[in-house]
Amino acid sequence: MIRVLICAGILLIASGCAGSERSSATPVAPAPRVRVLGVAQDGGVPHAGCSCDTCLAALVDPARRFHVASLAIILPPDANERKMGVFLIDATPDVTEQLHMLRDVRDAPDGRTDRAPVDGVFLTHAHIGHYTGLMHFGFEVMHAQRTPVWCTERMGEFLRTNAPWSQLVDKDEIRLPTLTIDDPLPLGSGVTITPVEVPHRNEFADTVGYVIAGPARTILYIPDTEPWDRWPEGMLKLEHLLRIHSVDVALLDATFYSLDELPNRHAASIGHPLIVSTMDRLQERSDAGLDVRFIHLNHTNPALDPGSDAQREIERRGFTVAREGAEIGL
Ligand SMILES: [Zn+2]
Ligand SMILES: [Zn+2]
Ligand SMILES: [Zn+2]
Repeated sequence: MIRVLICAGILLIASGCAGSERSSATPVAPAPRVRVLGVAQDGGVPHAGCSCDTCLAALVDPARRFHVASLAIILPPDANERKMGVFLIDATPDVTEQLHMLRDVRDAPDGRTDRAPVDGVFLTHAHIGHYTGLMHFGFEVMHAQRTPVWCTERMGEFLRTNAPWSQLVDKDEIRLPTLTIDDPLPLGSGVTITPVEVPHRNEFADTVGYVIAGPARTILYIPDTEPWDRWPEGMLKLEHLLRIHSVDVALLDATFYSLDELPNRHAASIGHPLIVSTMDRLQERSDAGLDVRFIHLNHTNPALDPGSDAQREIERRGFTVAREGAEIGL
């Protein structure tokens, strides 16, 4: 059974097994899980230079701000470690606040800067919302110590050969272990992460999504992609990924809700799947139990507003918009 608990300000969504119940009397062993740290497109909300209603509302009401899309993978301590394992997927321009959103599982040393704030970062691609938060790992801020930043060979080459990122490598603040597409990497606690190839604008490097598989649940995370029907021959299609990885929860690119948001643009010129198209494509799977949550919403996307017709329609059809702070048990 799926249970929804509000716990210390965090919306916890977990199965009815160990880790889902919390009471003051019985401490429960923490279970591996994913926490949503942001749901917005690369520019966040408010968006720079924008005077749309969403951005103006966010300027005056912090509750209407949205961080750039990112996930944390949180693992219980293993036999040798006393602290929780914490990994980020993507280092966004909002990484400062997003690291503070992890203080309950990875608190900084008393009164000092944590130079190893996470056990690693997994990058999806070289667009500004997904990697530029690495600047905070550098000499001017955390001066991190050998943080592993897993990425593809091309992404690693981009970081190694372009300032200011190359300085992070030269100072050994980050290391760049190479990911192999479709090759699962064990993280501990029975959790693996597998990069999957995703088509997207690849000006500087290439793009991946991630399958995060745990003992209880498997999550597919694809924050940026070409529309699903434009995935090239030879690349595993969305439905194949869902099937071969037995995905339970899919967090998918929801940059735009519908064409109404993009006046004077033809569908063929839009480099993302529309939410309405994704719902049509996955309606049967959603009806059959696949949990689809939309993430990476542009500031123009009406579904950001919980009171909007767009969000009501998403929920009526059995889908949801990802929520910052929500946790998904693995
Ligand atoms: Zn993006
Ligand atoms: Zn705006
Ligand atoms: Zn992108």
